[in-house]
Amino acid sequence: MNRLPEQHVSFPALQSKQAAVQAGFGGEQELDKIFERYSFSMDYRVFHDLSLFSSTPFQLDTLFITPWYAVIFEVKNMSGELLVTDNPPQLIRTSETGQVSRFKSPITQLENNCALFTEWLRYRDFALPVYGAIVLAYPRQHIDVFDTNIPILFPQAVPTFIRKLPTGVPLLKETIFSNLLSHLHRGHRQFIPSPICTTYSIQPEDIRTGVICQNCNRIGMKKYTGGWRCLSCGKTSRHAHKQAIRDWFLLFGGAMRNQDCRRFLQIDRQQTAHRLLTSMPLERKGSYRNRTYHMRFDSEKHT
Ligand SMILES: [Zn+2]
Repeated sequence: MNRLPEQHVSFPALQSKQAAVQAGFGGEQELDKIFERYSFSMDYRVFHDLSLFSSTPFQLDTLFITPWYAVIFEVKNMSGELLVTDNPPQLIRTSETGQVSRFKSPITQLENNCALFTEWLRYRDFALPVYGAIVLAYPRQHIDVFDTNIPILFPQAVPTFIRKLPTGVPLLKETIFSNLLSHLHRGHRQFIPSPICTTYSIQPEDIRTGVICQNCNRIGMKKYTGGWRCLSCGKTSRHAHKQAIRDWFLLFGGAMRNQDCRRFLQIDRQQTAHRLLTSMPLERKGSYRNRTYHMRFDSEKHT
């Protein structure tokens, strides 16, 4: 948003996405804490941020898997009054100030993920039922939902929910279960977010280039021998280029060449760009003139 004029046609969409991201932040950790605190007597594993591919790519916040069943937990953490409607499927939030914002329905999202994961399992000949539950990260959260059989839980209720799920004779034998686990590890693809410019239909020319000052948020810090200097507030930084380089990958995706870096950071010397790029943990491909740099967006975190 710092790199687009406020009157840009995509600006409102970015604002509402930002609100959604801010609202969702922090919730997953609440559920993580529950799984750290409780253990279950059965054989099970918990996977976080699993990116899999079935008929389409899909991502699971938290997957709890056992030889009897799988549970997909979708964590929501939003303040204000929440209303989930069925037709059209939406989540409507009214903030304390009365501001209304609309998001994708978490129930539809969860149902889609359950269907995609069931398909993923079937394709690999694992016959396991897949359950889904929505977890509200904070107990004071209030939500109104249409009549649905998807459970909506607070984190503290998750262990009891799990213990009540039917178990008997395991559906998967030990060796088959460990085979499934290794499939999940292998099936976990590197998470590659689609470029912001593609998602929000932004012309690359509309993006303002330059290094952003973290102190005053203005764009266009100037390179000097020891780092970067802001022409507006005078603040200096040694590492300000790192965020600009990350921005470039998030905005455009793919491979960065030395000239892309110079253009985006507004620097002249090829050597300077080379030095900045090699100081970051980027993947390098090709050599000399054909060298390109790639960013790994790893969010792997298995327990
Ligand atoms: Zn500044």
